[in-house]
Amino acid sequence: MSVETLEFQAETKRLLDLVVNSIYTNKEIFLRELISNASDAIDKLHFESLTNHELLDGDENFEIFVLPDSDTKTVTISDNGIGMTRGEVVANIGTIAKSGTRAFLEKIRANENNLNEELIGQFGVGFYSAFIVAEKVELITRKAGETSAVKWTSEGAGEYTLEDCEKDSRGTTIILHLKPEFCGGEEFDFTNTYELESLVKKYSDYIRYPIKMNFVKTDEEKNETVEIRTVNSMQPLWTRNKSDIKPEEYEEFFKHQFHEWENPMEIFHTKAEGTTEYTALLCIPKHAALNLYFADYEAGLQLYSRHVFVMDKCKDFLPDYLRFIKGLVDSPDLPLNISRELLQQSREVKKIGKALEKNVLKQLSKMLKNDREKYEDFWAEFGKSLKIGIYNNSYDEKIKDDLKDLLLFTTSKDKKFSTLAEYVERMPENQQKIYYAVGKDAETISKLPQMELLRDRNFEVLCLTDPVDEFAIDALKKYADKDIQSITREDFELDDDEAKKNKSEVEELAKSHEELLKDVKDAIGNEVYDVRLTSRLKTGAVCLATGAQGPSLNMEKTFAAMNNPFFRAMRILEINPNHELFKKLSGLHALDKNSDDFKNFCRLLYDQALLLEGIMPDNPVELANKIATLMAK
Ligand code: ADP
Ligand code: MG
Repeated sequence: MSVETLEFQAETKRLLDLVVNSIYTNKEIFLRELISNASDAIDKLHFESLTNHELLDGDENFEIFVLPDSDTKTVTISDNGIGMTRGEVVANIGTIAKSGTRAFLEKIRANENNLNEELIGQFGVGFYSAFIVAEKVELITRKAGETSAVKWTSEGAGEYTLEDCEKDSRGTTIILHLKPEFCGGEEFDFTNTYELESLVKKYSDYIRYPIKMNFVKTDEEKNETVEIRTVNSMQPLWTRNKSDIKPEEYEEFFKHQFHEWENPMEIFHTKAEGTTEYTALLCIPKHAALNLYFADYEAGLQLYSRHVFVMDKCKDFLPDYLRFIKGLVDSPDLPLNISRELLQQSREVKKIGKALEKNVLKQLSKMLKNDREKYEDFWAEFGKSLKIGIYNNSYDEKIKDDLKDLLLFTTSKDKKFSTLAEYVERMPENQQKIYYAVGKDAETISKLPQMELLRDRNFEVLCLTDPVDEFAIDALKKYADKDIQSITREDFELDDDEAKKNKSEVEELAKSHEELLKDVKDAIGNEVYDVRLTSRLKTGAVCLATGAQGPSLNMEKTFAAMNNPFFRAMRILEINPNHELFKKLSGLHALDKNSDDFKNFCRLLYDQALLLEGIMPDNPVELANKIATLMAK
């Protein structure tokens, strides 16, 4: 095939433009990115060679070369990793397929006018960072197991060319033709071996493969000899002593290893000896991945055996609710060429997994105790995961027990987060149950008419504002031997003397108004399961309650959003018999229970109750007309 000229994808062009024009400091990150790609490529080959040894073709000395040349004003970075086919070059280099880069682009879009370098610096911009320092980039690559090679060339300005070429061995070679300001300049000289060496040490010391450079030595007779030296220490970070590792080293490592663009929120580095031996380096990222709760999110830890990479995204260590944890496990007890299927059944993996889970939960509860602010940041990002953990393990008392004390809720008391223990601690002596209500936010919940009687008694209410909250609470059912009770379900009742008295009065009234209540129900129709008089309201006229069991109104909303319209809450319209409206209702009923006035009145009561729950009545126009008619009267 002759030379073929192709266009970059529009998105790629834009990214290139940004990268080249917006990074003012940290120009050297290109080196870290390209070395990291080289290392990834070797990892991939290594992994494939476990099942297909022939791919290595006798060359098992994995290595990366970084070769500056001041004569040609180039830096060449080469690896003997997996390489790419022509198709892969087009797919991987010409388009933006990588989710991290996508996330980056989305972030930029959101910040269109406020684009700053820091933002860009936070993301690994990957291969394209080559164009920060190069005016032209050549990439020559030959896939392991193939004989043909391909050369990709671009000046980063919208197009690139592809042509077949010769290459002696597998792997990828990238030649950066440096912009003038980066060779021999005052500020930067990337053709200087020592300058590059120090950058490699700074950013890529822990890379597991030797990064080699040529060092020219001149002896007394001015004879030059070239010595090839490995520049990086290659010691995997996690094998070092915790006390010798600086926070920055952990951070750099985390970013490199897991393709993250910002420092982690928390790092756990543990070594276990004894029957099962392993080292684990786990991290909680600072922010949840955009797709954390979607099917395309790939959870899992990296697996190493005796410091040798075995596989990525191994899901069998941590339970799904800890999917946000990134990290790696290195254990000599696991064989090198284990398949994913065997891994799943491995008792060692299960044991290690259990220990890791326990450790993560322990660290979280420590964080909650010792650094509340940090824990609340964690909660804001990943709290949902723990709640899903409770819901998904409704029948596993052990997991629920482990997680219940890590939950945070805002309450009607103030806008602050409380644990369940703190809530219980504050409960007045006469409060028997833990109360909760669901709504848009704490503000809206505090204003619910059902809140009044609780407020009078100084009873706090947990404000459940995340759709998953109620599912988790529902699965929990009890905390510290106290029932957790919704204030809007039909089985809610207060049990002090005053409330009891009030309740029996209302029951009497309900008996004498049985017919009225039935006619109200008939007037509204099948939408309501029942119409009742209530003792849960003080000054409010109406409210909507749901059955003691089954979906709540909010669960119904959640299911509807998932296209499951069959999960319906049992809706009960409750009317406050102490409200003026009740007298008016009785009056209209007595006058003519078949009149439009009575029927419209009933419908308006129901629509009001819906609005209080934040539910739009089915026919808002009709509602508005009825209100207008009523106001004009
Ligand atoms: P990332 O490394 O995060 O995937 P990059 O922009 O750095 O993103 O690289 C894009 C893709 O190009 C890589 O995923 C890989 O498929 C391919 N690639 C880059 N460099 C190499 C290399 N040295 N050898 C093989 N493939 C490479
Ligand atoms: Mg990369």
